[in-house]
Amino acid sequence: MKTPERLRIAVQKSGRLNQGSMDFLVSCGLTFAPNGHSLILPCQNFDLDVLYLRDDDIPEYVSRGVADFGIVGQNVLAEKEFEPKILKKFDFGKCRLMIAAPADSVIKTSKDLEGERIATSYPKLLTDYLKKEKLEAAIIPISGSVEITPDLNLADAICDIVQTGTTLKAHNLVPLFTILESQAVLIESPINKQAKAKFLSKCGIN
Ligand code: ATP
Ligand code: ZN
Repeated sequence: MKTPERLRIAVQKSGRLNQGSMDFLVSCGLTFAPNGHSLILPCQNFDLDVLYLRDDDIPEYVSRGVADFGIVGQNVLAEKEFEPKILKKFDFGKCRLMIAAPADSVIKTSKDLEGERIATSYPKLLTDYLKKEKLEAAIIPISGSVEITPDLNLADAICDIVQTGTTLKAHNLVPLFTILESQAVLIESPINKQAKAKFLSKCGIN
């Protein structure tokens, strides 16, 4: 006998998108047993498993169809150059990718970036931006805590995710301009599966 197709949705394991993502699934009427440390969380009342991943890995899983759906920030999709079908935009995970510089820096506008060093976890998006603006600057790729790099003289400016600006302020950095606006989105893999329609209707998406 053919077993029913079990779907998978990729969700950030812990971090800023986890709660909103799980709240959404629960709001669709899905129930889950309390989670231990497992990376796979089975849904109790639907043929679906939640895969708990780092947000940066979600595009890989969804693009290859290992996960049928995913909830991730548009910033991550853009950096990974993955353009999946977006089924829903959420009102959580809202943030901006911005250029910021120390308050006492000579860098005040885009053209002041010429010849400077910019630290970022978004080298692809920053490269595209500099190209578009016809600017030459050194990109310093850093995977986290980018905001400390100007103080340590590793960079002259940063290109980082900003939500409220509190982190920037705490490091005496001033946000100058936005490169990308982002929010969390529900995405779909390119692999067709009959069971997908059932999940989407359960979540009120057509
Ligand atoms: P992971 O361990 O999953 O890689 P992370 O440290 O990369 O976690 P978080 O800081 O939890 O990720 O942010 C996840 C997503 O939340 C970001 O990619 C972005 O879409 C969104 N976000 C919203 N506000 C912020 C913010 N102030 N700083 C960073 N990300 C934010
Ligand atoms: Zn991440």
